[in-house]
Amino acid sequence: MLGSLGRWTAGSTIVAMAGAAGAIFVDEYKSGIEWEKPAIIDAGDARTPPSDAIVLFDGKDLSAWDGAENWEIRDGYAVPTNGGITSKQPFGDVQVHLEWAAPDEVKGSGQGRGNSGLYLMGKYEVQILDSYENETYYDGQAGSIYKQWPPLVNASRKPGEWQSYDILFTAPRFDDEQKLVKPGYVTVLHNGVVVQNHSELLGGTFYDQPPHYEPHVDKLPMHIQFHGNPVRFRDIWARELSERTHPGKLKPSNEQTPESPKG
Ligand code: MG
Repeated sequence: MLGSLGRWTAGSTIVAMAGAAGAIFVDEYKSGIEWEKPAIIDAGDARTPPSDAIVLFDGKDLSAWDGAENWEIRDGYAVPTNGGITSKQPFGDVQVHLEWAAPDEVKGSGQGRGNSGLYLMGKYEVQILDSYENETYYDGQAGSIYKQWPPLVNASRKPGEWQSYDILFTAPRFDDEQKLVKPGYVTVLHNGVVVQNHSELLGGTFYDQPPHYEPHVDKLPMHIQFHGNPVRFRDIWARELSERTHPGKLKPSNEQTPESPKG
């Protein structure tokens, strides 16, 4: 027991209890790195966005999007009638929350049934599809990175039921010579279930070509696809993510506070 405590504690002194053996004195480890204080936000609840989110659609107003004239806003949701929508704001690294529902009247099959998609940077599609008892190629079903990575599981709800995507996107990086220096990565939770876990983007997601990168700027608008199906959308918000840099400064060890709480 003492050995395992000793592995993760060094520095200032804390007291650990070791059963009948009584109090044992061990050294606490603290990084001493001068991190910035994390911002305090209101996390909201299941139906409200965090206080620092950029609300892109609240069920009533699509003014954050170009192409909205081709969508209809109904009772707390929006549905495409002719064409996709593209966010006016460009995004790079971003967290996206999006809720969607496949049409409750089942029409078509495979890729023709409840098809839409969220195109990160307008180039990298997280597939939206009615994949409830609807077979198609696996790297084209709901939660796939289109034609690159199938979802880890099929977490689809029935047609007509509201579903959520929570997406973490790290944009690819290109250097001044337009060469790829770091690929993009996508994590997707479908209805709260991880279906993409830091999946490496192999490039743009094309219908008729293998994936490949085409250099682009750091931020580009996101796009929601119109594939001819009346997929409904509500609550869409985004949080820009900044690259975290290590401050690289260590406090002298004698500045460490010895009385800080355990854990
Ligand atoms: Mg699609």
